[in-house]
Amino acid sequence: MNRLLLSSTVAAAALLLTSASAFAGTGGVDPDQPAAPGEQSGGAGYGAPLVTLPGKPRLSAQKLSSSTVNVGSQASVVLRINRSKGTSAQVRIAIARNRGKTIKYSPGRISTNRSQVIRLPKLAAGSYRVTVSVFGASAQETVRGGVLKLTVKPKSVAKPKPTTPSPPAPTSGVFPVRGAYSFGSSGARFGAGRTGHTHEGQDIIGNSGLPIVAPLAGEVRYVSYQADGAGRYVIMRANNGWDMMFAHCQYSSAAVKAGERVSAGDQLCLLGSTGASSGPHLHFEIWPNGWRDSPGTKPIDPLPQLKKWAGN
Ligand SMILES: [Zn+2]
Repeated sequence: MNRLLLSSTVAAAALLLTSASAFAGTGGVDPDQPAAPGEQSGGAGYGAPLVTLPGKPRLSAQKLSSSTVNVGSQASVVLRINRSKGTSAQVRIAIARNRGKTIKYSPGRISTNRSQVIRLPKLAAGSYRVTVSVFGASAQETVRGGVLKLTVKPKSVAKPKPTTPSPPAPTSGVFPVRGAYSFGSSGARFGAGRTGHTHEGQDIIGNSGLPIVAPLAGEVRYVSYQADGAGRYVIMRANNGWDMMFAHCQYSSAAVKAGERVSAGDQLCLLGSTGASSGPHLHFEIWPNGWRDSPGTKPIDPLPQLKKWAGN
């Protein structure tokens, strides 16, 4: 019997606390507000209308403008404080960071009986519990709103561009020019200055008509012509994924067609001087991620690989 009485008392107290913390609307009951004696004796019991003390503020509405903001921007709380006496009320906002310190923010006196937007200070990224307190004339008149949950999102870090891993360098292969050659002077190197661009390959100087062969097995992609540049040229894709360019071939010397499979050592064309060329040479390029397939693809210096194929 006693036990039952006790538990129902606890339940009533819990109910009281729930309604106190919610502060849902103007009809909310403040637990610390004394009931008028008449009401208590009248047997109306819990929930009966209570006398509102003049001037006691009520937090009739409170919400965050947005429950999520990006770091660097300010969250705001929209408040409406109703008060029958006076035109303002003192407000304090506690901003508690999860597993962190609580920031006490005092926006000062807020006009009552109309909605007000209060901008919160800039906050570091994290999760926060925002609680608004409104002060009346005495401690008994202080009201506190329910917890508003705020998330401050960190700056979105730009995702690093996915870089296509370059295919591994081949462990075998043959030198693309059959016959005597030289790598020329500094102007023949990869990266050497050219008008409006840099040299994207390595020049291999040799006699006109020397066979130019596929250094690796693969497939011919293009056999084409560029009058003011590469002249007659062949592009092939090796089985390791590399694209290779062979430029300035002699006219009518192409020994392959686009789409044709080639083995290492198969002849592609003959060394020449077609296009923008000042003398017989092979202009050779390596593009590990495709020859001009997308703006991101770039050629590499082919000289180290050429030296390997040359056996030194
Ligand atoms: Zn060149």
